[in-house]
Amino acid sequence: MENSESELVQNADRRALAYLEGVNERRVFPDKAALDSLVAFDEPLPEAGKPAHETLALLDEVGSAATVSTNGPRYFGFVVGAALPVAAAAERLMLAWDNGAALPLTSPACAAVEDIAAKWMLDILDLPRQSAVGFGTSATACSLTCLAAARHAMLLKAGWDSAENGLFGAPEIRVVVSEKVHVTILKALRILGFGASRLLMAPVDEHGRIDPDRLPALDDKTIVCLQAGEVNTGEFDPFSSIIAKARNAGAWVHIDGAFGLWARTSPTLRHHTDGVEQADSWTVDGHKWLNTPYDCAMAICKDPAMLAAAMNSDAVYATGTSSAQKNLTLEFSRRARGVPVWAALRTLGRQGVAQMIDRHCAQATYLANALREAGFDVLNRVVLNQVMVKGLTDDETRAIQATAHDSGEAWFGMSAWNGTPVFRLSLSSWRTTDADVTRLANLLVSARQSFRLSSQGQD
Ligand SMILES: *Cc1c(COP(=O)(O)O)cnc(C)c1O
Repeated sequence: MENSESELVQNADRRALAYLEGVNERRVFPDKAALDSLVAFDEPLPEAGKPAHETLALLDEVGSAATVSTNGPRYFGFVVGAALPVAAAAERLMLAWDNGAALPLTSPACAAVEDIAAKWMLDILDLPRQSAVGFGTSATACSLTCLAAARHAMLLKAGWDSAENGLFGAPEIRVVVSEKVHVTILKALRILGFGASRLLMAPVDEHGRIDPDRLPALDDKTIVCLQAGEVNTGEFDPFSSIIAKARNAGAWVHIDGAFGLWARTSPTLRHHTDGVEQADSWTVDGHKWLNTPYDCAMAICKDPAMLAAAMNSDAVYATGTSSAQKNLTLEFSRRARGVPVWAALRTLGRQGVAQMIDRHCAQATYLANALREAGFDVLNRVVLNQVMVKGLTDDETRAIQATAHDSGEAWFGMSAWNGTPVFRLSLSSWRTTDADVTRLANLLVSARQSFRLSSQGQD
């Protein structure tokens, strides 16, 4: 048994290493043959178990070939990063521990490391140091927990204890979101009982930032959701002016900073986030711009008691302090998602994080300039790591994306900006070199050329 376990781990490591060694040059989106091979997984549930090494072989031989190379250098979709080697290695070690990190009793090591990771996150993002940090699975889940804390706090101020009395008959809470709000905030709000037609939409300017002059009226029963990093343009809402208004009114401000909050770590970009520290809660992902593996995100709440009240799961057999992770996140049993954060921060250091963020933004600026010079329509002013581009016609835009996708050289997705189809290029992988960015620019130029040649052929 012992032998076979170590053989299996070594086998997996060998396969993982081979995958990583090919990650720079493998197709970014799998080809048709690899996709067709996926039928190999379609077997009936075995009555008797099969050999473990065979299961691993199937996963690698059929599975690895049909992966998307999000851990490679030319995946430019969805603002996701690759996995830093140290963060991935730390995860691997944690799998050997197999500790649930609900509270110190279930893993003193995980609890100690997550405590430090929490302190370091508040330090590097320069957020109020007394805040609670819950390490969750995603920005979606972490915004849900922050907004649950917000809902609890606003109702409590209105004299209603929702932990005790629930929501039926509770005073009405208003929610203000941007016209360009991320869909996962809408999902979190929906789960919390704030349906779509009840939301107050704040109009935005041409960059996708909330216009403070047209902000709906705020009061002490309002939750306001702002964004650090709009998904298409990478822009920031004007925090200082809006948060000042919210403070005067007694409203709660939540910041969705899934990727954009990392701008705060860079001395040259930090000004975009001025005032954000005045908010009440923040969400930021690890698996996007910090380049930790999935699933890794943080819910940060200035008033730890509100997060702990909304997320409390103390039981007679498993009591923890209010700062135990099970009282700050949705999960009770969970992996220690703060460990890869800690490993990434310790290995990069403050300067290394800032350099990575700065490099991606410089690459985005370079790419935008190269594309403009080549005659593309770059729609945003590229304040961060997002480049939003369209062709001469909607068909051309779609064709360029499809050709790039089929080439296997790069991948990025389509989006829409004010009703027009665009493609969106995100620079956020630690593996992306300047040469990869040049290769992307050349690929786009040649994809456009083949579209134009083929449409001339049709005339
Ligand atoms: C990606 C993203 C989210 C959702 O993050 P997940 O970690 O995928 O749940 C929320 N808001 C913004 C602005 C994002 O870019």
